[in-house]
Amino acid sequence: MGVTETSAARILDGVAIAAEIKAEVAVEVGKLKAEGIVPGLAVVLVGEVPASAIYVRSKVKTCGELGIASVMLTPPETVTTGEMLEIVAGLNAREDVDGILIQLPLPKHVDTKRLLEAVTPGKDVDGFHPVNAGRLQAGQPGLAPCTPAGIMEILRRSGIEVAGKSAVVVGRSDIVGKPAAIMLLNASATVTVCHSRTTDLPRYTRDADILVAAIGRSGFVTVDMVKPGAVLIDVGINRVTDAAEVERFFPGDEARAAGFAKRGSTVVGDIDPAAFAIASAYTPVPGGVGALTIAMLMQNTVTAAKLRRGLDPAVAE
Ligand code: NAP
Repeated sequence: MGVTETSAARILDGVAIAAEIKAEVAVEVGKLKAEGIVPGLAVVLVGEVPASAIYVRSKVKTCGELGIASVMLTPPETVTTGEMLEIVAGLNAREDVDGILIQLPLPKHVDTKRLLEAVTPGKDVDGFHPVNAGRLQAGQPGLAPCTPAGIMEILRRSGIEVAGKSAVVVGRSDIVGKPAAIMLLNASATVTVCHSRTTDLPRYTRDADILVAAIGRSGFVTVDMVKPGAVLIDVGINRVTDAAEVERFFPGDEARAAGFAKRGSTVVGDIDPAAFAIASAYTPVPGGVGALTIAMLMQNTVTAAKLRRGLDPAVAE
């Protein structure tokens, strides 16, 4: 699909793409099981952060659905960096554990960076270890961060051409913006990375055939910042609790208003929904990029299980 040819914006359905990936992962798990290999994911959830507990529960549940074994460790809020390092060392050594996920954020007194570097790169299913970041940059097989990997799956499975396009990524975090930029570059886009110190941001965003917004600010990218016909990838997940703001982003949207009235909040991306109208395609929020993250984690767990045993990580489609 060309990015400037269509008139009506196409919704890139993250939920449907995630379901497709999960079905493929389940098939791969079945093949591994036939060879006596059961991929296993270990999740470490520290303390009682309600949002983290919800994420972890859905990760463990998805493991069960796809036939991946899971183990959950729940050290208390008071756990020290030393104790966490011991937990990680134990999981690194376990033969039945292929992937290790430490749910973030950790309590402030725990050295997150040190811990993430302690996870053996072959089991780093979040793709946060510097060795995996280096492999991604070098274009070598490894474990890539789930959210940007999900973005690339959305583009690939939606038939959106990346090679030769101008891709602009707003945001340069280690978990989203930076790896997304590298993946787009590896796919032969011409990539620009913008951030809070970028001067005249609209000058860059207006040039984008593919615009990735990973900023963390509700509706930050406005319609005047977008080139008509662009593909908009909205990574942002922002909770809006102000009724006036909900009405500003979703005027006349009764379903949103009803959801807001019921829950007292609604989720908005980093792109003003008004901009979607001039795009050729876009990821909705919710139901876009966010829907892919767990599917990519499952895929990484199976990839880790294969790589650790010297098997080809490619998934047959
Ligand atoms: P982050 O670590 O806070 O990074 C935000 C980035 O946005 C930074 O690079 C920052 O620039 C840039 N930025 C902030 N204000 C800006 C401005 N005014 N103009 C231009 N750039 C600006 O956030 P993150 O972890 O990457 O997450 C970004 C968003 O994605 C959040 O809404 C988060 O909830 C969401 N997210 C979703 C998923 C998912 O879908 N599963 C996963 C992860 C994150 P500086 O580097 O200069 O500070």
